[in-house]
Formats: sequence, structure tokens, C-alpha cells
Amino acid sequence: GSRLAENDPDLYAAIVAEEKRQRFNIELIASENFASPAVMEAQGSVLTNKYAEGYPGKRWYGGCENVDVVESLAIERAKELFGAEHANVQAHSGSQANTAVYFSVLKPGDKILTMDLAHGGHLTHGHKANFSGRFYEVTHYGVSEQDERIDYDHLAELAREVKPALITCGASAYSRVIDFERISQIAREVGAYLFVDMAHIAGLVAAGVHPNPVPHADFVTSTTHKSLRGPRGGIILCKEEFAKKIDAQVFPGIQGGPLMHVIAAKAACFGEALKPEFKSYQEQVVKNSQAMAARLTEHGYRIVSGGSDNHVMMVDLRAKGLNGAEASHALDEAGITVNKNSIPFDTGTPMKPSGIRVGTPAVTTRGMKEADIEKVADFIHEALQNVGDESALHALRDRVHDFMRAFPMPW
Ligand code: PLP
Repeated sequence: GSRLAENDPDLYAAIVAEEKRQRFNIELIASENFASPAVMEAQGSVLTNKYAEGYPGKRWYGGCENVDVVESLAIERAKELFGAEHANVQAHSGSQANTAVYFSVLKPGDKILTMDLAHGGHLTHGHKANFSGRFYEVTHYGVSEQDERIDYDHLAELAREVKPALITCGASAYSRVIDFERISQIAREVGAYLFVDMAHIAGLVAAGVHPNPVPHADFVTSTTHKSLRGPRGGIILCKEEFAKKIDAQVFPGIQGGPLMHVIAAKAACFGEALKPEFKSYQEQVVKNSQAMAARLTEHGYRIVSGGSDNHVMMVDLRAKGLNGAEASHALDEAGITVNKNSIPFDTGTPMKPSGIRVGTPAVTTRGMKEADIEKVADFIHEALQNVGDESALHALRDRVHDFMRAFPMPW
């Protein structure tokens, strides 16, 4: 029996309801996934009880002999997975990993050149509401209006003009391969550090399905919970020359005690990502993304940049007379979870952007193949033809829930 159910029924009920939502809805949030039973077991373990400030072999607390093993496994596996010289696995989140990188080599007021949020960048890439936009002088590059792909020539021009101390690349909403080699040449030419935030694509990179930024960048960060399919958290990879600086910025720079249960779950995740099955999973993520883009295009939607090379796509809804807010609301009613998203050169507002973002990592974990994804695209189209018609959307939701019975959760 569940101890939570007995002792805290309100909390238990909310967790059970969330498990049901995850099980029966179609999860298309590009930054989400379903962690394996091994990852969940490690994260739910006794390691949550342990303080371990410091690093393996150099702790401020006694009793760290077991967590030292855990953290060393996570570090060694992360290095092997991505071919990195150094790994810090303590960052509590992607944002904290990014904070540590900026703090390790920049002073307040330094110039950074980063991808525009409106073109797919992340808040920590210099948004004015984020520390990165408040502490540094930010210039943005973006995608070109013609093909909606990163405009590398313009990036190079801006880099020569601005002479930034650091260039950030990586994105939350970009469906094409990023040419890290090209950006690294630009960074070298102007004497800037190159920082790649591969949070969204880390699983693809680990499986060799997307080029690896590690050989080209001074710093690479990632979350561990998106395509990489681990626990919520962050990692930082860097060249040996920056190892001490990065470790000191994470602790004691911006964090206290590491979350050892999460680090154990990261180790479990990296172990899984080193297995051959992980490569076929990631290949299927990309095939599914391409099948989704093709089917939505057949239904008359415009995919930003014309398609997807990775796990995600932005769908421009304007030709259908819809905005992202009403579309994501209708999809929620139909049991399909996406997020509203602005598209490059959006003519809408942040609250009512012109697009939705659709990603395939989570549904691929549930076992979907191309034919299943086409069915999901058909469900999306049906929901969007019935915006505002609650009864039609709820009838569709019943069919969606029924459809999901064929795709088991990983536990
Ligand atoms: N970097 C990118 C590119 C992201 O998409 C995200 C998550 O949305 C983050 C960093 C931040 O990760 P977290 O939510 O763990 O702080």
C-alpha cells in the first residue's frame, strides 16, 4: 500500500491524477520526456538524505564514501557519452548550468552575442527579465527571413562589429541542425569564447544523430530531462583548462549541497544513453518528427523553415486563422499537450503568438512509429478544426485516450 495515500490523501490524489494525465494524453511538449524506471528509482532513493558539498574525494561533509562513487560514475559516463575532457554534474537545472558558465569567464557589463528568444533562443541567452540580460550587454543574432535558418553570415558580421567576450548558441525552438563548427570559426576569429547550450538536442547528440558541439566549444551545457531522458537537472562539459573555474562556480559560486539523488539518476540516464538501444530511440525521434512535419503540411499547416532535422518543429497557424493560444487550449481539451510558441518574425503577441511547438521525444519513448505519428497529426488537425466546440473536442479526447492505451509507459 502507498504511505502517501494513507498519510496525505490530497497530495497522493494529485500525483495519481498526474500519472493518469501523462499516461492517457499525447505528450508533444518538445522539452519533456518519460524517464525510465531506473532513473526514477535512483531519484527516489535514500541519496536524497545526504549532504555532500564539494566534489568526489574533496567534501566538506563526512559519510560521503558512497555518494562519491555515485558522482564519479555520473562524471565518467558524461565524459564518455559526449567525448568531453571535464564534466560537472551538480548543476540543479539548465539555467544554473548556464549561470555557472557565464560567471566563470565573464564580468558584469561584458558583451555577449546570443540567439534571439523570438527566433528560438532561451531566457538564459540574454533575455532582459533574466540575469543574463541584466548583467551583460547583449546583442542578438537570429534566423534569416528567407529560409528561417540561422543566418551565419549575419552572425559573423555582428561578431566582428560587437567583439563579444562570448557567443552563446543552442535553442529552445529551432528545428534545424546547428553548424557548431561554423560558429566556432567565427568565435575564434573575434576572440570570443564559444558556449553551446545543447539542452534540447543532447539526446540526439549523445546518439550521434546531431553533430556534437563538444569538439568545437569552450563550454557545453545541457539539461538532462529533455531528449536525453534523465531526471530534471543540468550538466556542464568543458575543456580541462576551465575545469577548476567551472567547478568553483557551481559550488561554492552559485549552489550549496548537490542533489545526490538527482546525480544518481543522471548516472543511470547516462548509462542508458551509452547503450545501442538509445541510438535507435533517437533515430526514431527524428523519423517521427519528420513524419509529423510532413503530415501537418499535407493538412495545410506551414512548418517554420519547411520541416525538421531534429525532435521539434514550430507550426505556423496563421493560414488557418488561428493563434497559438487558442490552438494549445483546444488541443488541451482534446487530450493533446503542446505549447504555444512565437515563430520568427511573428506578427502576433507573446500571449497570442502565431505558432505552436511540437516535439517527438516523449511519444517516441511510448513506442510510437511513423504511422502512429501520422495518426497523432490527424488528431491535431481534427482538434484545430473544432476550436471552440467543447463537445467535439471532448469526444475527440475519448478517442485520444483510447488510442494511447496501445503505448505503455516505460514503467
Ligand atoms: N537551455 C535551453 C536551450 C532550454 O530550452 C532550457 C529549458 O527550457 C534551459 C536551458 C533551462 O533549463 P531549466 O528549465 O532546467 O532551467
